[in-house]
Amino acid sequence: MAVDLHLHSTASDGTDTPATVVRIAADRALTAIALTDHDTLSGIPEAQVAACELGIDLVPGVELSVDHHGVKIHLLAYFIEPTPGPLQDRLDTLRTGRDVRNVEILRRLRAMGYAITLDDVLAHAKGDAVGRPHIADALVASGAVNDRAQAFRDLLRDGGPAYVERERLTAVQAIGLATASGGVTSIAHPLTINPGDVTLRSIFVELRDAGLAGIEAYYSEHPPHIRAQLADIASELGLVATGGSDYHGAGKPHLQIGVGKGDLVVPDHVLEELRSRRP
Ligand code: AMP
Ligand code: ZN
Ligand code: FE
Ligand code: FE
Repeated sequence: MAVDLHLHSTASDGTDTPATVVRIAADRALTAIALTDHDTLSGIPEAQVAACELGIDLVPGVELSVDHHGVKIHLLAYFIEPTPGPLQDRLDTLRTGRDVRNVEILRRLRAMGYAITLDDVLAHAKGDAVGRPHIADALVASGAVNDRAQAFRDLLRDGGPAYVERERLTAVQAIGLATASGGVTSIAHPLTINPGDVTLRSIFVELRDAGLAGIEAYYSEHPPHIRAQLADIASELGLVATGGSDYHGAGKPHLQIGVGKGDLVVPDHVLEELRSRRP
């Protein structure tokens, strides 16, 4: 029996509604899923209703982009209920930081001759966490690029010509807030981290000592031997090897719910291990 603990919906930059994401997961006979939209829990209530109707376990989650001594890391926080709480209350500020940054990115794009307005961008955003993927969609609609991937490659990628930084929590702050909210955290897609002068392992250890519960070993875009290596490292370090597809619907058309590129399996004991780490 399998689970998928990394899914995006229209609440952030996925293209399927929360209810649709849950329905696809139920059709694939997954036993549990986590909805992990960027900086928002606004998709969770709809997903909870659908999960209840379809008899699948729904873990409320959120994905955060955090800073650890200049290194960018994505953190998945699980068991974060869509109610007021320590982490929940910070999400508003993070989304405001996105709004400020989006305007600045549009300013840069305009200076480069791409006449995209905020209304153009908002026309592609159905939720409250708006970001670069929606700017990419507006660029596609204007005919400037072919797809989200090209928009990132040519303009929006980290350090790209239209890239702008935004407010982030530190990893240690985010882990503390998630724990205070009754949740647990896992480092998303560890191989996308550029650790600079330090090693990935040293980052895992530092954040484990700050309360991190897991690392996302079973990730769509990790080759199978890397998944196994990361699972071994997790077990050596006393961390849970978590996993998920990072499904975004048509936003990342090569990734499917539950199976990623076709070869992903996230065993369901992962979720039990995560649950056992709850504060
Ligand atoms: P933002 O949250 O606004 O900083 O945008 C970053 C998000 O864009 C990532 O978390 C991904 O979900 C998405 N993204 C990044 N690179 C690509 C790409 N090449 N194609 C499609 N989506 C991407
Ligand atoms: Zn995303
Ligand atoms: Fe991510
Ligand atoms: Fe993600």
